[in-house]
Amino acid sequence: MTELTFTRTPATRLPDAEREAVLADPGFGKRFTDHMISIVWDREQGWHDAEVLPYGPIPMDPASSVLHYGQEIFEGLKAYRHPNGDIVTFRPEANAQRLNESAARLALPELPVELFVQAIRELVTVDADWVPSGHDQSLYLRPFMIADESFLGVRAAERARFMVIASPAGPYFTGGVKPVSIWLSGEHARAGRGGTGAAKCGGNYASSLLPTRIAAQHGCAQVLFTDSATEDTIDELGGMNLFLVHRDGRLVTPELNGNILDGITRKSLIRLAQDRGLTVEERKVTVGEWRAGAADGSITEAFACGTAAVITPIGQLKSEQGVLVDFGDRAPGELTMSLRDELTGIQFGTVADRFGWVE
Ligand code: PMP
Repeated sequence: MTELTFTRTPATRLPDAEREAVLADPGFGKRFTDHMISIVWDREQGWHDAEVLPYGPIPMDPASSVLHYGQEIFEGLKAYRHPNGDIVTFRPEANAQRLNESAARLALPELPVELFVQAIRELVTVDADWVPSGHDQSLYLRPFMIADESFLGVRAAERARFMVIASPAGPYFTGGVKPVSIWLSGEHARAGRGGTGAAKCGGNYASSLLPTRIAAQHGCAQVLFTDSATEDTIDELGGMNLFLVHRDGRLVTPELNGNILDGITRKSLIRLAQDRGLTVEERKVTVGEWRAGAADGSITEAFACGTAAVITPIGQLKSEQGVLVDFGDRAPGELTMSLRDELTGIQFGTVADRFGWVE
């Protein structure tokens, strides 16, 4: 059985005026909607007790495995309000599939794709008033799964909970899209062969916090992680995938090598670029290649991509050695911005959705 009936416990709704005040300036990830989704799993019954609940604290035994061994995975996607009032999400099945790939790696139970999509729909429907309508605003959805068996033995938990919470999100860039600097971490690695780099699990982000803080001290917004073995092969950024743009219009992005996240924005941009007749190379890319290409003018643009910011143009790459790449006034580049406009157009309903991505 893949569909469950959700029992609904309505929340006391935030008064309209207060909600409107939040939506006028939502920021990111600070305020949450009136409801949340919870579905419970255990080895005997499988997935059960699907509920729409008032948003709030969840009961948690101090011995819950997630609190000790970090057995947790999550996803991130957005709901958009179209000009005709429809509320849509972007490729939710892709998030459901990726959640299950993460689940397999973290020894958590897989959740049927239909149930994931159903859960998202339930929450977006009950909290539809929370989907903002301002420019570049959306409702950020955060599905996650935690192991909540009360047992301190180190083994895969036999009880888990899947939840979805939602938070209105403003434009990532207040005041327009600006190029960012990124920091090449020579000291810290994010992933290694056979590790959890390809899974969206909390531990990957916990280990990225210190290098991200160091990056911020150098005026950089994100960390560029390289393969821990070669230290030159580019993996990805702390929370985004990376693309380099060649003067001849070729796009190059690190291949899915088992260490990086299979980003849905990355996947979508590859498709959009190919549809324009551009060549996209998914292969090993090195920092050396990027530096040489930027220096001789054959690499003209670089950008990071992910659900939160869609596309972030990269202006500089810095490290302890100094500025390694500097696009100066050339960032953001033309192709970067036109891909960004096309993708956000599809998401916000101003460009025809010829791939059937919004639903
Ligand atoms: N890499 C990492 C490490 C991320 O956290 C994210 C954000 N989910 C991405 C890439 C981009 O993935 P997506 O386009 O699916 O948001």
